[in-house]
This record gives sequence, structure tokens and C-alpha cells, in this order.
Amino acid sequence: MSQRTLIIVKPDAVKKNAIGQILARFEKEGLRIVAARMVYLSKREAEGFYQVHRERPFFGSLTDFMSSGPCFPVVLEGGEETIPKVRAILGATDPAQADEGTLRKQFATNIERNAVHGSDGPETAATEISYFFRGLEL
Ligand code: ATP
Ligand code: MG
Repeated sequence: MSQRTLIIVKPDAVKKNAIGQILARFEKEGLRIVAARMVYLSKREAEGFYQVHRERPFFGSLTDFMSSGPCFPVVLEGGEETIPKVRAILGATDPAQADEGTLRKQFATNIERNAVHGSDGPETAATEISYFFRGLEL
């Protein structure tokens, strides 16, 4: 079965005018855009999205960043290995550790402002997709 995943072009990359380049890269790698929208998260909505990280020391700063400007969530589909494929294109969380040719190497500023999010597994992907998109939009 074809897997779907959620990516988010984060506020830093939206500010850099990089939405188009980031989506073009996924399309070039054979991924299909299923749904997309621009959304300006409130602090509370950013906290809701990142609930799994609520105990982490960077939670406050991360959710400030994610609610600092519009972001661009996108549902991608690309065969059975969509989720690991997308994570590989993103590169390591910390751009200083990210491989050449990855999106975070190219667009991220630091470990927090790292340009793009990608779901880390099928269950997370389902939860995260439904956080931003209703059934009719998919
Ligand atoms: P994402 O979930 O955004 O795809 P990830 O799975 O590579 O990234 P996580 O460990 O899930 O990384 O962390 C979620 C987000 O929290 C990171 O993308 C980054 O924006 C931020 N983050 C992670 N670790 C740190 C840290 N040590 N300091 C500041 N921010 C961090
Ligand atoms: Mg993660």
C-alpha cells in the first residue's frame, strides 16, 4: 500500500521564499502532492502539534518559532517507502550533521530552525495529517 506522510515547510523556510524549491525537490524525487495549505499556527496550536516534545527543554522555544509566521503543511505520497524516503531527503535534524544534498543542509539555519518537518512513522503520519487536513481535502 502506498504510504502518505506530512511535511511542513517551517516558518523559517517560508520567510526565505523556499516553498517552491522544497516542493520541487520532492516532486523531482517522485513524490506526489496530495494536499497543501498555508497556515499561521497559534502558540497553542503549535503546542498541540508538538505534544510529544512537551517535556523537552526546547519545547517553549520550538513552539514560539512554529507560531512566529505562516508555515506550509503538505501531504506527500510516493509508494511503500514514502516516510523513510522523505526523511532521507530532509537529512539530520541538526543541519550541521546533515549530508550534502539534503534539504536541511540547503535551507536550515540551526537545529531548531531546520526548514522542514517530516513525520517519523505511519502512525505519527496519520495523526499529523489529520491535524491539518480533513478527509474531504485528501
Ligand atoms: P521533525 O519532527 O521536525 O521532522 P526530527 O524528527 O528530525 O524533526 P525531533 O526530534 O522530532 O526531530 O524534533 C522536532 C523538532 O524540534 C526538530 O525538527 C527541531 O525543530 C526541534 N528540535 C529538536 N531538537 C532540538 C534541540 N536540541 N534544540 C532545539 N530544537 C530542537
Ligand atoms: Mg520528529
